[in-house]
Amino acid sequence: MIIIMKMGAGEERIQEVVAQVEELGFQAHLSRGEERTIIGVIGDERPVSPHVFELMEGVERTVPILQPFKLASRDFKPEDTIIPINGMRIGSREVTVMAGPCAVESREQMLEAAWAVKEAGVRILRGGAFKPRTSPYSFQGLGKEGLEILGEVKEETGLAIVTEVMAPEDVPLVARYADILQVGARNMQNFSLLHAVGESKMPILLKRGMMATLEELLMAAEYILSHDNYRVMLCERGIRTFEKYTRNTLDINAVPVLKGLTHLPVIVDPSHGTGRWELVGPVARAAVAAGADGLLIEVHPHPQRALSDGAQSLRPERFAQLMKELRRVAEAVGREIKLQTPNSKLQTSIPSMGG
Ligand code: PEP
Ligand code: MN
Repeated sequence: MIIIMKMGAGEERIQEVVAQVEELGFQAHLSRGEERTIIGVIGDERPVSPHVFELMEGVERTVPILQPFKLASRDFKPEDTIIPINGMRIGSREVTVMAGPCAVESREQMLEAAWAVKEAGVRILRGGAFKPRTSPYSFQGLGKEGLEILGEVKEETGLAIVTEVMAPEDVPLVARYADILQVGARNMQNFSLLHAVGESKMPILLKRGMMATLEELLMAAEYILSHDNYRVMLCERGIRTFEKYTRNTLDINAVPVLKGLTHLPVIVDPSHGTGRWELVGPVARAAVAAGADGLLIEVHPHPQRALSDGAQSLRPERFAQLMKELRRVAEAVGREIKLQTPNSKLQTSIPSMGG
């Protein structure tokens, strides 16, 4: 249940209610809105009478939260959650584009990619050092060395970093280099990892499992929020269906459905969502039109040489062009994408593989 405090109820009244919630063996989670504070009563399903709280001073009313996810729900927090990172405000009117290669392959590759996406207007660079690959024989990522490269590139370019963490014991290490920890689709229900990233208090990009329902995605987010870590972004990256022409089926419905159910920012990954570079632009535009708060896009300076996901990676000049198109779509739906002028030094030749 949630306890809605009266408008202007003071800190003392709020703390009295928090103490009562805790005395009954529940956790109290506070959502401080502009007008009023909402207190989430979180714990197992033991019955507790709402009257206990309704009779307290400063309490307006209590409302049961019917969904299984509580802290992630809009009932608990009606206002959108905004996560400030490197001058961007993720979840605000601005649409945030995060871009970069699938995997960190070398210092040169990351620097080339970083400058290219920066020139296209991006402030958050992606790149995996720990890669969850289907085959144990595929490139597994550079691990710690990859993180060190990300650290250097961050230093040199001023870009913030989003990178995946696969194991709970790696969270402190990855958190030293990253600005956003990515939990990959394959780990969406790795509950030990969810607890660990929750405890890290870092911003988290939580990707939807390839066979997960939206409710399961929100329940996974709930694990992180239950550690009082509210800086969680949800990422739709396509689900597995019977369709074979694309790598996954991007669930565009997920964007407005999630925006209705939760206050958390919703990001779309059109690269993994389609698996094909020529589909990334159209699907990215659709995502912005549908109300996505951000995009995660794979960009590689030389997709034909990429050690992973070259087929779905955009070349820098196509990405720069896409950024311009996205800005127009964003404006059409009352949003905004900040854009800088692309660098004229970028390559213009387009090989057959990779965008
Ligand atoms: C990725 O972003 O590189 C990745 C592995 O994505 P996903 O977990 O969505 O497959
Ligand atoms: Mn990838």
